[in-house]
Amino acid sequence: MTWPEVEDRLKESDIAIIPVGSTEQHGPALPLNNDAFTAYTLAKMAADQVKEEVKPVITPPVSFGVSEHHMGFPGTITLRPETFTSIIIDVCKSLVHHGFKKIVIVNGHGGNDAALSIATAKVKEETGVFIALVNWWTLAGDVIQKVAESPLFHACETETSVALAIGQNVNMDKTVKEIPQTAMPNFLKCDLFAKPPVVETPIDMKTLTKSGVVGDATRASAEKGKQIVDAVVNRLAEFLRELKSLK
Ligand SMILES: [Zn+2]
Repeated sequence: MTWPEVEDRLKESDIAIIPVGSTEQHGPALPLNNDAFTAYTLAKMAADQVKEEVKPVITPPVSFGVSEHHMGFPGTITLRPETFTSIIIDVCKSLVHHGFKKIVIVNGHGGNDAALSIATAKVKEETGVFIALVNWWTLAGDVIQKVAESPLFHACETETSVALAIGQNVNMDKTVKEIPQTAMPNFLKCDLFAKPPVVETPIDMKTLTKSGVVGDATRASAEKGKQIVDAVVNRLAEFLRELKSLK
């Protein structure tokens, strides 16, 4: 878009979407850009679905995230959590400065979660605008549980399936299964849907997995991915429609 186009759009819509990802290892089958690509593509698909009635804008993706735990693998680039938080706040404040009043962050990387919670709380506190955080795996959590046959964690069946369904460059010949057991398997679960009791600790992926994968990417398919993508996109589109009428 040009700036006059943004100026015109602001007369019709005050909703901006910020896709957020990471640049980090995703095992031998998925490229480093996977989380940013996924967040951007899902956001774009949802925005396209509502482009006539909601007319949201999408910013370029924030392609670096909090990936300290992947630094044992070449190619990973991480921001310190405070740097990442500052970038998100500055991007949001820029949008607010121009008149956007409803901001939706579409996140593609679980490691960004804690910093994004801080950033969204600060943006709300300092500007008063509406801000929402959407993690695609949470938005379609129920569908993932139905579709996936192996744990959801990293560069896994779910993530690889979604990647296949949205046109990512996936090398299926290189997919692996690696589901490591943690030192204290009763508490430290490698499963985001683990039931309590669960104890959390910062992880170092290099000590957890040889390949960089935690999960079973060999079970991935575009068909599974499409079911998840459809759920994410349709629900996000529905949310954007609701958001438009939110006063
Ligand atoms: Zn990822």
